[in-house]
Amino acid sequence: MTRPCMPSGPIPARIMIVGEAPGHEEERVGAPFVGASGNELTKMLTEAGINRSQCFITNVIRIRPPNNDLWAFIAQTKGKVTSSHVPLRDRMVMRCVVDGVKLLKQEILSCNPNVIIAVGNCSMWSLTGKWGITDWRGSILPCDLVPGYKVLCTYHPAAIMRQWSWRTVLVQDLRRAARESAFREIRTPKWNFLLRPTIGQVLETIQRLIDRANSGPTVLSVDIETSLHFITCIGLAWNRTEAICIPFTCSDDDYGYWSLDEETIIVWNLRRLLTHPNIQVLGQNFLYDTQHIYRWWGFIPHFYCDTMFSQHVCFVGMPKSLDFQSSIYSEYYQYWKDRSIYDNVEKRDA
Ligand code: URA
Repeated sequence: MTRPCMPSGPIPARIMIVGEAPGHEEERVGAPFVGASGNELTKMLTEAGINRSQCFITNVIRIRPPNNDLWAFIAQTKGKVTSSHVPLRDRMVMRCVVDGVKLLKQEILSCNPNVIIAVGNCSMWSLTGKWGITDWRGSILPCDLVPGYKVLCTYHPAAIMRQWSWRTVLVQDLRRAARESAFREIRTPKWNFLLRPTIGQVLETIQRLIDRANSGPTVLSVDIETSLHFITCIGLAWNRTEAICIPFTCSDDDYGYWSLDEETIIVWNLRRLLTHPNIQVLGQNFLYDTQHIYRWWGFIPHFYCDTMFSQHVCFVGMPKSLDFQSSIYSEYYQYWKDRSIYDNVEKRDA
């Protein structure tokens, strides 16, 4: 008979940590995160400025899975579903998972934390319904198990033991959790994004940026999207909260978003802006953007800095993709390349 692993830590607590299931040592002691990955977790918490003894720590599942294999409790494929499995969210699971999630709900309510740290995929899934920790790591998501709470998703410390280079990333996530533990809500600034603009709005925005550049150096973040080698849109951001997206293709109209005359005027004005000597273009892997801009629009933007190169020079060996960098550097990061968004659009358009 396996011994259930009971939660540890004070109630209430500002920080709640939710693991997946106990391992051998946790089963022996009857407390969460007391084995090798637990010791590493304690060290990482300390490095992030979090005192483990002030956190409420628990697991989604209270009993140790056979061979420490979580898939023994959550069917990995349809073929692995047995008569002992029951549905939970979008998965088929063993009864102990359903019971664990029920307990977890009660624990959140009694702990009443400002932030819940989900370590590992199973924990994130139980708390938010999202699946795929590699994608979602670093995100703050609303807790849909108990609405009104927020969840910071990160790697499981056991994964760190296998992939040591991820350790700094986990510590960085824990630092974010420490900052987030000061308040309950998910904070976002007031974004001012101009989407699906009119021709007047595009020209007025470009002129305003040119006027600003006329009075001194102006950093402009620029990013294009392409499909089948065509430029589908360009985004320009001139500060942390204000940006415009100028589309060139349109899901509602096969002939495009603009008339030929409008598109010509916009491209001409983009050229005036992006080649202005005081405009300093900041981009991610901007060589890619430049080749498309040159091919279709015939000019080369006034380049200033490439975030992909900077990241690589400063942290050789670390990932340098845009989503990874935002997960580390953006205060309000939430993973945005969720396929389900596109799937919904595709379903809607079908
Ligand atoms: N892994 C977990 O998810 N929880 C523990 O308590 C220990 C290891």
